[in-house]
Amino acid sequence: MSDVELLRADERIWDVVVVGGGAAGLSGALNLARVRRSVLVIDAGEPRNAPAVNVGAHGLLGREGISPLELLQRGREEVASYGGRVVSGRVARLGRDGETFSVVAEDGQRVRARRVLVTTGLVDELPDVPGLADRWGRDVLHCVYCHGWEVRDRATGVLGSFHQALLFRQMSEDVTLFRHTGMELTSEQWEQLAGLGVAVVDGEIAGVEVDAQDRLSGVRLGSGKVVPVRVLAVAPRFVARAGFLEGLGLRLREHPMGLGEQLQVDASGFTGVPGVWAAGNVSDVLALVPVAAAAGVTAAAAIHMDLLMADAKAAAASRVAGAGVFDGPLEAEVSRRVLGAGAHSLDSFLGEQ
Ligand SMILES: Cc1cc2nc3c(=O)[nH]c(=O)nc-3n(C[C@H](O)[C@H](O)[C@H](O)COP(=O)(O)OP(=O)(O)OC[C@H]3O[C@@H](n4cnc5c(N)ncnc54)[C@H](O)[C@@H]3O)c2cc1C
Repeated sequence: MSDVELLRADERIWDVVVVGGGAAGLSGALNLARVRRSVLVIDAGEPRNAPAVNVGAHGLLGREGISPLELLQRGREEVASYGGRVVSGRVARLGRDGETFSVVAEDGQRVRARRVLVTTGLVDELPDVPGLADRWGRDVLHCVYCHGWEVRDRATGVLGSFHQALLFRQMSEDVTLFRHTGMELTSEQWEQLAGLGVAVVDGEIAGVEVDAQDRLSGVRLGSGKVVPVRVLAVAPRFVARAGFLEGLGLRLREHPMGLGEQLQVDASGFTGVPGVWAAGNVSDVLALVPVAAAAGVTAAAAIHMDLLMADAKAAAASRVAGAGVFDGPLEAEVSRRVLGAGAHSLDSFLGEQ
């Protein structure tokens, strides 16, 4: 955390610290700030869709095609406008410290919070093919909902995924499925691909070809043969960013469809560790921007209710404690109700005080 004020506020206990300031984290923070929760967002500033900065974020009602970075900048301003704080930093550790959580950044700074919302997103682990990562989010893609429209009708290669082949066949009649390291296809799948006019190419991919305008122009096989394509759809392994949660005993679980690893949460985003919620790609690797934002809102509401319940209990407890060990008028009233006429002696005793 590079924020000076944060250092000064070291002893402050925030209602909620949000770890990660993407769509999920900022949406959660916005809703928490609007119900007068003190909320601090700590964000490492590497949203997953940053590589698509020139392509835009798509499928967002009312904000269709907005730059992903502009969307988050607006979100930060909206959080700040209700008194929420957003700072730069990377959380390295999260631990319980009595009734509160201790949130420790990579640079050693520490803040305390009553509740934590984890929204750190995921890492897309791309197939190990030279040159692929450089083109990620431009013409090497994974999400038909994100950029399928933008690449419609182009010659499209699909790397080792039958389902991706179906998804991208909807966008283009020119689709080639590369079996790469030897993906298996059932006879039914062979028939379906043939029926849809999807070409299937055997042989490991050795690299990608790029033209003079820095556009993808083909896929190079180990044999040296180049298959011309303008787009390559891949199926990354999605791995949630949650290593810093190990101190709380939270570990990643395999996605039910084998797509990667994510945190397991209930419908409200609750992780099972009291006081800790998660939302967005860290707990749902398939969540697109609006889904991640909605999960942040749901988790924020659950956290707010949890804090309301805790505060109400504490208020009742302090009222009882505030009444003291012996409260004359209160005791007299209790005695009158319980003992009826037999309370006279106590009444008179109190009266003499
Ligand atoms: C290339 C590409 C294009 C995409 N295009 C679209 C699209 O057009 N439309 C769409 O709906 N979806 C799109 N997506 C999906 C979209 O990126 C995700 O839905 C969205 O980013 C999920 O939001 P999030 O808040 O869960 O995570 P993120 O947006 O990834 O935000 C997580 C934040 O947490 C921070 N962080 C991580 N670890 C820490 C830590 N330890 N401490 C502090 N901060 C931390 C990260 O730096 C990051 O800023 C695209 C994805 C990719 C890869």
